[in-house]
Amino acid sequence: MSLIEVTVVGAGPAGLMAAEILAKGGVKVTILDHMAKPARKFLLAGRGGLNLTHSEPLEQLLARYGEAKDFMTPAINAFPPAALMAWANGLGVETFIGSSGRIFPKQMKASPLLRAWLRRLESLGVELKSQTRWQGFDGKPTILAMGGASWPQMGSDAQWVPILRAANIRVNGFKPANSRFLVNWTKLFRDKFAGTPIKNVALNYAGQKVRGELMISSEGIEGGAIYALSRVMRDQPGEELQVDLRPDLSLETLQQRLSRPRGKESQSNFLRKAAGLNPVSIALLYEAKLPFTAENIKTCPIKVLRPASLARAISSAGGVALAELDQNFKIKAVPNTWAIGEMVDWEAPTGGYLLQACFSSAVAAATDCLKIATA
Ligand SMILES: Cc1cc2nc3c(=O)[nH]c(=O)nc-3n(C[C@H](O)[C@H](O)[C@H](O)COP(=O)(O)OP(=O)(O)OC[C@H]3O[C@@H](n4cnc5c(N)ncnc54)[C@H](O)[C@@H]3O)c2cc1C
Repeated sequence: MSLIEVTVVGAGPAGLMAAEILAKGGVKVTILDHMAKPARKFLLAGRGGLNLTHSEPLEQLLARYGEAKDFMTPAINAFPPAALMAWANGLGVETFIGSSGRIFPKQMKASPLLRAWLRRLESLGVELKSQTRWQGFDGKPTILAMGGASWPQMGSDAQWVPILRAANIRVNGFKPANSRFLVNWTKLFRDKFAGTPIKNVALNYAGQKVRGELMISSEGIEGGAIYALSRVMRDQPGEELQVDLRPDLSLETLQQRLSRPRGKESQSNFLRKAAGLNPVSIALLYEAKLPFTAENIKTCPIKVLRPASLARAISSAGGVALAELDQNFKIKAVPNTWAIGEMVDWEAPTGGYLLQACFSSAVAAATDCLKIATA
């Protein structure tokens, strides 16, 4: 068979990468996107610095995909973080490795990269048809890259789900991933501390421990450490979230420090000086209505209600079931059609793993599509 035209649906990072590989392979590519402008969510990700990928050893990186690890491994091995960095460099975007091992563009935003990328695609003859919603399978070779179900106002509104289900393709229900969680704060606490980070805490939920930053919001809690636990918090609700407010001090040291006579100092002053607690940490102990003991400082409980809405999660779990795809992300039930990026049912924490998987799946699918095109 010789294909000369391929449709890519979705102008997010996965779709644009697939379009680039196809166009470089000599295929005529048309990208459809129902939004007025491409890559809205990618630009939004750029506001947080655009964490492109991670520099940790590949085996460790692959483990971040949990149950989807085996499925994702060939694609990520074929287009690993080093290849992603080289690609960004090729667009004139220098990258650097942050202290946490995360990889970012030096400019810490997506717009310069996107501009250079769209110019490259244009020069390769790729046509972008905006404000054009995909209507369903038309028998022509197609790479689907329509995103997940978070931030629908950025384009990924999951309206494609009924079309795939009608074609007997299993699409698992969407759930928030890397999401905020709701907490019923007292008005006093919310008014005073919404927007305040508590840096360097250790969180423990259902035996899973994470160190990082906890951000207080008016509705609840968010931040890197919460995102890292969000999967277990979502899937095993009802457990107590414990915060170690002084993870670098042992229980014994804290006990010793708190055993000093308080004298005329206020409770808060005493806790600040003896235990090194900042005002928001002290207020968190007040919220928990527990005695100010060393034990409670190291296991301060937060009563978490549930994940905040899917619409505001950083990413979504769910989507096209992996069993529906071969290892090149080709849909088994529909000829010459692939599904890539976040619309596929894998999930990963923040840390660059989301974009890495979007890019790697795009390269795998487009390379496979090219093989068929040139066969
Ligand atoms: C606030 C925020 C910060 C983030 N930060 C990071 C980060 O730093 N690092 C990281 O790795 N990830 C980050 N992410 C996640 C990352 O942005 C997504 O995982 C990624 O954009 C998914 O790429 P995609 O191409 O699969 O889908 P999307 O980027 O969602 O693109 C899908 C495209 O398909 C189009 N589309 C949808 N349905 C149709 C249809 N029916 N017809 C035509 N077009 C359609 C949409 O308009 C959209 O343009 C962040 C996400 C958010 C919300």
